[in-house]
Amino acid sequence: MSTENHDDVSRRFVLKQAAIGGIGLVAGTVVTGSGSERASAAIEHVTEKATWLAERASCVSGNRLLGADSAGPVVTKAREIFLPRSAEEIADLVRSLPAETPVGSVCGGHESSNAATVASDGAVILDMAHLKSIEFHEEEGRALVTVGGGVVFRELVEAVKERKGALPVGTGPGVGVVGYVVNGGLSGYFSRRLGLLGQRVTRLTVVTAAGEIRVLTPDDELFTAMLGAGSALGIVVDLTLEMEPESVVRGAEQRVISFETRHQAVAFAREALRFQAERVLPDEGVAMELVVTGTKALVATFVFYDTFRGSMAELVAALEALAQRLKLPVVASSHLSSWYETAAALWPVINAMKGSPLAMLQHCMGTEGPPTDAILDFICDTVVAGSPLDEATFSIVEIRTLGGSAMAKKPLPSGNCRHRFFVDLITMYDAKEKTPAERQEIADMTRSVIEKARGVEGLAVDFSGTHSQPDDPGSAVSPALIFGSEAMAEMVRAEKKRVDPENRFRFHPYAKFL
Ligand SMILES: Cc1cc2nc3c(=O)[nH]c(=O)nc-3n(C[C@H](O)[C@H](O)[C@H](O)COP(=O)(O)OP(=O)(O)OC[C@H]3O[C@@H](n4cnc5c(N)ncnc54)[C@H](O)[C@@H]3O)c2cc1C
Repeated sequence: MSTENHDDVSRRFVLKQAAIGGIGLVAGTVVTGSGSERASAAIEHVTEKATWLAERASCVSGNRLLGADSAGPVVTKAREIFLPRSAEEIADLVRSLPAETPVGSVCGGHESSNAATVASDGAVILDMAHLKSIEFHEEEGRALVTVGGGVVFRELVEAVKERKGALPVGTGPGVGVVGYVVNGGLSGYFSRRLGLLGQRVTRLTVVTAAGEIRVLTPDDELFTAMLGAGSALGIVVDLTLEMEPESVVRGAEQRVISFETRHQAVAFAREALRFQAERVLPDEGVAMELVVTGTKALVATFVFYDTFRGSMAELVAALEALAQRLKLPVVASSHLSSWYETAAALWPVINAMKGSPLAMLQHCMGTEGPPTDAILDFICDTVVAGSPLDEATFSIVEIRTLGGSAMAKKPLPSGNCRHRFFVDLITMYDAKEKTPAERQEIADMTRSVIEKARGVEGLAVDFSGTHSQPDDPGSAVSPALIFGSEAMAEMVRAEKKRVDPENRFRFHPYAKFL
């Protein structure tokens, strides 16, 4: 099935133009000619910037809603917002702008600090919303899919389902595929078996800061750097992913357990996490996630892969027995029978989280090896017990297993490749229901948990581009943690210097240190 929108031109257009014009299209080489003056005049642009931001940014950074900023609505500072339809339009536009003009790219609009959607005075934003092509093809027996720069997960997952394929996608239906891949996105459900989505990229079409269209393959220096730090290095027009058959995921079991007091949630988490460390982490055939929600639910999910050899029923029964022992009711049980059902499981929940605006702060912490008892105690006694789950009721603490294929495959510049166990603290609330003092209290509680986490031996904090809040004032984000190692951070820095010396691409989660 192809879900290509025929107005989109994307890669196919570039290939066609190259053929017509007799311009060679070789991996990693420049395919456009000289600059074009028609660029900005011909490209669709946004006239109502306030409406655009309200529609395109899925949330507003909790930090932007504090102090003086809490008085009025968050606005985009960009000079102009364009909606290009092809690689050529993007390249023409970039070349037609003065070399020092900052350029931001927006795909799904889910990045939590709004770096690219708010941008800065004088900046130009490229909203990729028209680049919606999804094309399936085969190459040397590999099932590939080429995805346009504006495709979001709901669109990709629906299309891949028709092809009976599987990919390590993120949970949010509106999260941009490219925005996720270029910032080191990971799937708590699937990465243990399928790796990070970036580890499945075989080709990238990008427009550089100089306005050149380049097709990158793993042989190109820039290729690997793009798959973790890409939002600082180029504009992705499309990317090609290698799929696996849907049979790699046997299915999932989910149990929702309700609690009344935080003390009960902590007690359940304490035993469930020991169980996760002892029974699940050593077995790469299964992933386990425990989510503690502000709506007073504990959601335990096991995802079983084709490599699982144990008894599914036994694992689930152990968690049910724990709930029974603690006298906590299991209020819902779901059996998800395929990759697709598992990938789409949280869409209704996420779609129901709305706000005016929806405020968000995202942080993560994790361990490279199995977590120690002291770390598990910290997660329970401080993270589960002290996060603002009652004050910001859309908030969740997600405690997940990783490692497996994400660790075994070729490393990318993403801290997510190195972590076997990790926790996301996602603070979320409807801002219209909160006074400035309440917003501050929620941000302070979040920050207090994260600051304490920084002092816990063996716990890495904010190591992920997709799950760190880069606009926290004074936060000590480390390039080596975010990109996975000092060597990766150095490689990214060197690429940045080489391909974007004017720092045109400055609206990304690493702006503090690149
Ligand atoms: C509900 C929800 C669920 C989530 N689930 C997960 C999850 O399961 N796993 C996970 O790892 N993360 C998850 N995230 C985090 C999310 O993956 C990241 O915030 C991601 O960067 C968002 O990408 P986007 O395209 O939606 O956002 P955008 O704000 O559009 O883009 C994010 C960044 O990517 C850059 N970018 C966008 N398009 C391009 C392009 N074409 N070329 C170059 N740079 C580009 C932007 O400039 C910006 O810096 C979730 C977030 C939310 C809100």
